[in-house]
Amino acid sequence: MVLLNPAPSRPPEENLVIVIDDDEIMRLSCEQILSKAGYRVETFGKGHDGIRRLREVRPSLLVVDIKMPELDGFEVIRRVREIDPEVAIVVITGYATIETAVDAMKEGAYDFLPKPFTPGELRMIIGRGLERWRLIKEAQRLRHEKEEVERRFITLVSHQLKSPLVAVKQYLDVMLFSLQGQLPEKAVEWVGRSQVRLGEMLTLIQDWLALSKIERGSWCDPAATSSLAPIVADIVQDQRQLPLAAALTIEVVLPPDLPSVCGDRVSLSMLVSNLVGNAIKYNRPGGSVSIRATHEDGWIKLVVRDTGIGIPQEYIPRLFQEFFRVKTEETQEIPGTGLGLVICKRIVSELGGSIEVSSKEGEGTTFLIHLPVAEMKKEAG
Ligand code: ADP
Repeated sequence: MVLLNPAPSRPPEENLVIVIDDDEIMRLSCEQILSKAGYRVETFGKGHDGIRRLREVRPSLLVVDIKMPELDGFEVIRRVREIDPEVAIVVITGYATIETAVDAMKEGAYDFLPKPFTPGELRMIIGRGLERWRLIKEAQRLRHEKEEVERRFITLVSHQLKSPLVAVKQYLDVMLFSLQGQLPEKAVEWVGRSQVRLGEMLTLIQDWLALSKIERGSWCDPAATSSLAPIVADIVQDQRQLPLAAALTIEVVLPPDLPSVCGDRVSLSMLVSNLVGNAIKYNRPGGSVSIRATHEDGWIKLVVRDTGIGIPQEYIPRLFQEFFRVKTEETQEIPGTGLGLVICKRIVSELGGSIEVSSKEGEGTTFLIHLPVAEMKKEAG
């Protein structure tokens, strides 16, 4: 099972250095030397305490002793790298050997300082670490900026493409309708195929534009309140018309007294529509889809379950990445954009909820969504 909305972490603190060393004298001298040099220093005698703090604050630098009782420096580095891959780690040790240095670097340390060291040496190595951390952050910022420019470009192109594509599709509709019986059979087939491909392109454009609207914050309205029952009923009624749905049993179980949820009807419809659409699309003839909701401790729990083809475990962590689609023999003929679940995830997090997925290949898939219950006063209004 994958939980997709981890707690947001604090922004990194550029001048903060965490020192983990079981030797009190060493902690004190690091603190003195580095504080004088303008750093904010927090020291810890035990690896566990330092790691706990590192989860709360985001230092640019970590100084860690290799030889410590309980958790040694290597283990600290390993765990810290899982929490923060960028923090610059400097290792200090009393028994400096090339092997220990190499091992520490392999675990992800940036530099190595053998004891005893002078204040100048510590300052120099910390200064270098900070410089490296800044470079990494700057490279990251530039990468994000580049990605943002690319996204805006794709959004602009999508906007520009939408109207001509709709027009071409409509012309083809008109042609097929008005020239009924006059076109050769092959031409009707080719036009039909062109329409399907145009339809796929339009879905992709619509999904992309929806996603960029959600990202700009101009789609979801978490201050609105909506009742899920009519939304689910409308979506299910629409999707029952799909040819694939004819061979499926679709069950909806929502208690009549289900409280309203936070969120506007448009976003919630898009969320439910994507999940129910997938449950139908990735199903098998004779299969079933169930949509259930319950109310627990201020949350509405919405469960969309299907008995379809399921998802191989190794793909589950990637399901919410843009354009990711599971590629197996069973999915290759099923059309899609790989954006539906990204849209669902963004909507859910905009509305303050969470989304989890569990699946068994060949047996089916379950999406579990938690949405906050709207406050009583809002409901009344
Ligand atoms: P798509 O437009 O491809 O359906 P989504 O973002 O909605 O894109 O889903 C991403 C991928 O996750 C799909 O391509 C499909 O492989 C898989 N998937 C999503 N929902 C289900 C489901 N209910 N059952 C099986 N596979 C699913």
